[in-house]
Amino acid sequence: MEVTPFLEIREFQPSCERGDRTRYFLKVQDGCDYFCTYCTIPFARGRSRSGNIDSLTDTARRVAEEGGKEIVITGVNIGDFGRDTGETFFNLIKSLDSVEGIERYRISSIEPNLLTPEIIDWIATEARAFTPHFHIPLQAGSDEVLRLMNRRYDTALFESRIRKVREAIPDAFIGIDIIAGARGETPEEWEKSYNFVKNLPVDKLHVFPYSERPGTKALNIGYVVSQEEKHRRVAQLTALSDKKLHDFMTDRIGREYEVLWEQPAPGNDRMHGFTPNYLRVVAPLDEALINRISRVRLAGIDEMENDSFIAEML
Ligand code: SF4
Repeated sequence: MEVTPFLEIREFQPSCERGDRTRYFLKVQDGCDYFCTYCTIPFARGRSRSGNIDSLTDTARRVAEEGGKEIVITGVNIGDFGRDTGETFFNLIKSLDSVEGIERYRISSIEPNLLTPEIIDWIATEARAFTPHFHIPLQAGSDEVLRLMNRRYDTALFESRIRKVREAIPDAFIGIDIIAGARGETPEEWEKSYNFVKNLPVDKLHVFPYSERPGTKALNIGYVVSQEEKHRRVAQLTALSDKKLHDFMTDRIGREYEVLWEQPAPGNDRMHGFTPNYLRVVAPLDEALINRISRVRLAGIDEMENDSFIAEML
């Protein structure tokens, strides 16, 4: 049997999975050519390769015909879409946006260097269905650690993209990924990183403790953070995230939004849905509203699920 080495995999396998009646996951790209020093994905998933705009747009049309309302655009390095085919991510999202019946698109995660000011401006002003909800990996708020990680940006670029989003779409929800305790994150670099993140106008941190991956170049970096210190940094970042999220949510109480309601689990007498900027909202079950959009006022934070708002129907 002949086995293709992962780095030689060039073929794109399309997929569009249905999460529930409302949401679908459309894979537009696979693999990655970035070779961040801590990451094994380029070895496990192969080189960056993309679908094509026409067939992905057709898939979105079929989703709309099935009654799907929301598509999450997925991939390993989504913004890199089309580098192998001559198409562009910007043209892909413009084409998807034209599909009638799809009310919402979310970009699952995008590298900061690939979330261009042009894309941000388009989402802010022209996009019909692309939501103001961003998930952007930072990984470290120290230029030295970013360099050791072989990331493709520095803190100045990252900050400029975040501020651009905030300025163009003040109500956007911005989540970022950050790794705590990577190799090379000395106490000085950690302090820089923490202060950088603290001052960034973002709303949630997805915090991951650094974990050693066999075969990665990061293992050659000399400075190792102890497990105990890594956990302390995770706890500190998690507390910072809780504060940022709480501030964002508190500030939204009383505002009005369009909510796309989702099918609850069987037997549940409450339904939930999301605002365009991905705030979770709950209300008593009304079957007629499932998989539809209705306007609500956020009456307050729910006591049972404190990551959610109680809806006042309008
Ligand atoms: S961390 Fe992301 S961008 Fe970097 S190599 Fe892994 S998949 Fe690619």
